[in-house]
Amino acid sequence: MDQLRDQVAIITGGGRGIGRAIARAFAEEGAHVAIFDRAFPDDFPAFVESLKALGRNVVAKAVDITNTPATETACDEVVKELGRIDILVNNAGITRDKLMIRMSDDEWDAVLTVNLKGAFITTRAASRIMMRQRKGKIVNVSSVVGLMGNVGQSNYAASKAGLIGLTKSAAKELAARNICVNAIAPGFVETEMTAVLSEDQRAAFLNVIPLRRGCKPEEVAGVVVFLASPRADYITGQVVAIDGGMTM
Ligand code: NAD
Repeated sequence: MDQLRDQVAIITGGGRGIGRAIARAFAEEGAHVAIFDRAFPDDFPAFVESLKALGRNVVAKAVDITNTPATETACDEVVKELGRIDILVNNAGITRDKLMIRMSDDEWDAVLTVNLKGAFITTRAASRIMMRQRKGKIVNVSSVVGLMGNVGQSNYAASKAGLIGLTKSAAKELAARNICVNAIAPGFVETEMTAVLSEDQRAAFLNVIPLRRGCKPEEVAGVVVFLASPRADYITGQVVAIDGGMTM
């Protein structure tokens, strides 16, 4: 398996969850990876070692992607340390769920700032480098909630819908430089983010998933590998749902 051989990839929010699964899948496919996260859990060093054991270069940057200078510096450091940036996966995201009529301005701003503005900041920084290389792949992690909306997630849905608009605009702006920009829209993925849901909330999700199960992070990662690989060179501006049939 060598779909990303010697590519250099940045994955934001790669400290855990879906981002970690993407980092592992990328390394297994031959990529060198830079993981950006604002916090790394205790088992993260062992995870990094397991990727290095595959023969890949791995760097971890403690960076908050809502901080423009820190994010731009981290991207420049990746170029110095790993040589280039071929792939960016905008995966970092948060939730602050509440019914809209009870939601504070701060809860709205926090989610829009990380999920949408953070992706803009990172895309702008990395695409400047990709434009000089005349080559790049950007994959944005949106959500089915950005397509369908959801009770208690007006902030999250708006951020993930906005990310689709950012994806299509960036795809049009960057196509002439041979940079493809796509989004994925996962449904219900089994991670720490969804572990906090109640049994009732889980049952409500599973009820509307034709495949009748949650998605494994590795199943998301496989699609991201494809979109980041040369096999997807003619795909740009698209949104790929990974949702067990929820949105068909
Ligand atoms: P998670 O909470 O397990 O991981 C998110 C990671 O992002 C964490 O490591 C966190 O530290 C990092 N992060 C948060 N804010 C950051 C910031 N400002 N700067 C840098 N890093 C930051 O979540 P997950 O379930 O792995 O989700 C990953 C992505 O997938 C998110 O964008 C999420 O919205 C999206 N998504 C998740 C699901 C799901 O069911 N889990 C479904 C659809 C989409």
